[in-house]
Amino acid sequence: MTMIAGTDPRTGDALPPVAEITSADQVDALARAADDVAAAFASLSRGTRAEILDAIADEVERRRSDLIETASRETGFGEVKLGGELTRTAFQFRFFADVLREGSYLEATIDPAAETPMGPRPDLRRILTSIGAVAVFGASNFPFAFSVLGGDTASALAAGSPVIVKAHGSHPATSQLSYEILKSVLDASAAPEGVIGIVFGTQGGARLVAHPAIKAVGFTGSLSGGKALLEIIGGREEPIPFYGELSSLNPVIITPGAATERGADIGTGLVTSFTVGSGQLCTKPGFVLVPTGEAGDRLIEAARDALAAAQGHVLLNERIFTTYTEETATLDGRADLRALKAPADSGTGFAVTPMLFETTLDELDHTIVHEVFGPVAVIARYNPEKTEEAAAQVFDTFPSSLTATLHVSDGESTLVSALTTLASARAGRIVFDGFPTGVAVSWAQTHGGPWPSTNSLHTSVGATAIRRFIRPITYQNAPEAVLPEELRDGYTAIPRRIDGELRAAVR
Ligand code: NAP
Repeated sequence: MTMIAGTDPRTGDALPPVAEITSADQVDALARAADDVAAAFASLSRGTRAEILDAIADEVERRRSDLIETASRETGFGEVKLGGELTRTAFQFRFFADVLREGSYLEATIDPAAETPMGPRPDLRRILTSIGAVAVFGASNFPFAFSVLGGDTASALAAGSPVIVKAHGSHPATSQLSYEILKSVLDASAAPEGVIGIVFGTQGGARLVAHPAIKAVGFTGSLSGGKALLEIIGGREEPIPFYGELSSLNPVIITPGAATERGADIGTGLVTSFTVGSGQLCTKPGFVLVPTGEAGDRLIEAARDALAAAQGHVLLNERIFTTYTEETATLDGRADLRALKAPADSGTGFAVTPMLFETTLDELDHTIVHEVFGPVAVIARYNPEKTEEAAAQVFDTFPSSLTATLHVSDGESTLVSALTTLASARAGRIVFDGFPTGVAVSWAQTHGGPWPSTNSLHTSVGATAIRRFIRPITYQNAPEAVLPEELRDGYTAIPRRIDGELRAAVR
């Protein structure tokens, strides 16, 4: 019997076992059970599913201290980071309850029967409906907001999809406690049994992805992990969507005007941004363009001062720690890079020292620039006479990202337009005069981008994250009794498009 246990990253010591590895038969049974109840769960009213999501949010908050204590032990994150993440997690469930009640996500559309220039048209009624059972893989760095209780689970349940979560090897006890919270709420609700399940162990996760009952996979994690699961999907008889939130460099461009106006503030803010969460955020700014000259120098000096005051950081697990240590040692050994370092780390567990490396764009060896989890970033100095060319070089050379950040000045409108055009082709969210860490959960949010930041056209954060787990269906000349209520004549509680015209809800 093999047991799953986490590790305390502050000491490197093993934590008590949490659960047995899920056997192949158990994975199959969970997937079949989810499939069996998929139609019944999807047919619950939007109001009922919204109540379930609100109840999950309440329960998450009721178990706040247990969740934070458990996650802190397994991740080394402190109470401030975990408390904020938990608040976001509860907010996210309530937010999707609001999305359900508002109802525009259904894209309810009615084309009444009519004579048209291309001939008679039947009565057509279109709506978006649950895709079926979903497998959710959370990431190590967000034990709540991108894990068992995270946005993938919240949006899939909102869509009416049963969810089987894969417990992350870095935080199995947090995963188990999160699952128990979901299960207790679902058991007490109108949802059928089997809507939620959990799998422990890497092989079990792989088997889940291959199982014919699973109709979509939500994944937040490494590029290599995402590619491995994509390969499994490639071997399935029925192809299914894979929504991978993968790897991101998140370039930051500082224009000459911005450096002159507020270089020191930007330098300080940059250090806060690349060290928050110990630099283990998918939105961490990993590469920064700073102009040469005095204004850029002031920015670097402020960054150096902020770094000198930085605390030591503990990374999540041995793999991330080893990669960080090896990658930063390689960078530190290069003659073309100048290292700015925080005071040395404590040396215990997976503790590391934050580092910032400086070079010039002309000298930059592009092969050294890629996502490294942990508190490290690379600054390249560029000729301020050639800002657009420098930015074009960055966006042309580096992989696309979740975000691109532009620090600009009011007097640079032509340059700002050019930089925005360059950034739009290579990122899903463009941040002006701020930092990319911190992703608000809202209606307009996009947390996604061209490959390899994600592999899909969708966002994993915000209202439209629900789109990943719904598919369109059109009823042609259907009797009213079989239609979902949102498509029946006279229903006005959600926005609908009728004969081409968008009608507001009347409640
Ligand atoms: P990870 O090591 O890929 O793990 C993610 C999950 O995938 C775990 O459950 C893991 O199982 C599973 N997995 C990985 N390889 C697998 C394989 N070959 N077969 C079956 N299952 C496999 O990623 P992580 O360390 O948790 O996350 C760090 C990465 O996530 C970073 O690259 C970061 O950029 C990215 N991230 C992206 C976003 C975003 O929204 N774009 C958000 C947060 C993080 P085990 O636990 O059993 O190994």
